Amino acid sequence: MPPTTDVSPPSDAAQRRAKPPVVVYPVETLRLRDMGMLNAARENMARIDEIIVPARDARAFRVPKGHFFRVISLEGSQVGDLNLWNAQDLSEQFFSGKTRALHATHVNVGDRLWSSLPNLRPMATITHDTLAWYGWDDDGAGIHDVIGTRCDPYTNRLLKGDDYHHCCHSNLARALAAETGMTVQDAESHVHDVLNVFMCTGFTKDTHRYFMKASPVRPGDFIEFFAEIDLLAALSACPGGDCGTGHSSDEAKCYPLLVQIFQPDAGSLSDWRSPDKSTYSRAHGLS
Ligand SMILES: [Zn+2]
Repeated sequence: MPPTTDVSPPSDAAQRRAKPPVVVYPVETLRLRDMGMLNAARENMARIDEIIVPARDARAFRVPKGHFFRVISLEGSQVGDLNLWNAQDLSEQFFSGKTRALHATHVNVGDRLWSSLPNLRPMATITHDTLAWYGWDDDGAGIHDVIGTRCDPYTNRLLKGDDYHHCCHSNLARALAAETGMTVQDAESHVHDVLNVFMCTGFTKDTHRYFMKASPVRPGDFIEFFAEIDLLAALSACPGGDCGTGHSSDEAKCYPLLVQIFQPDAGSLSDWRSPDKSTYSRAHGLS
């Protein structure tokens, strides 16, 4: 919210405000090097696994590097909260904030999902999205956001004063605990800011507050990713359902989500190699 103060603007306020915006990160070179290769690979791929994520719950799944996976809408309009980890090292996890800074508030085909420092490499690349037609609506909203965090029981308790145990944060923690054998408290420490799959969000024009509106996703819609490294993933079917009203409660109508994992033809990615971690020295100015 803009400050309501009695500070009067300086005489050159208009000039200061008129400075041109500069995109912080020129990312053209970061977009997919060879979308044609991935497009060709996805033409001939075999489904090797599928996982149903129950409503108001989450499931973990593994995707080997060089494979594709889809998050698919089933039965009704439903938002999903996605976490990604390096399958061999959970400390390397999806970096929502840097992905937002590098690409945009919402991600689409060709964008990469980047990993946390000190790794900073693409974990996955978006290769197809049946909601790509949506673009930006009249409210300034888009789909698949990297601005929200995930619904969680702490914020719910802060705002409502009660406990709700099926927020995406808890769902993801339970799913990771079940997959790894960790306690749910240990697993919780690995849960991170998500990619809000199918979620329709933006910032209000007048006060720039984060808003959501009913997702346009319908059964059969899907978003597809290419795994750039071996992934351990977890997906929560948000208790907010289509996130058109509220979340962190049992009030919204919720539906399951489907995850499918695909293996491309051997040889179709012979020119592809998994990205390396950042080569920064990590000296940080010290010798
Ligand atoms: Zn949620």
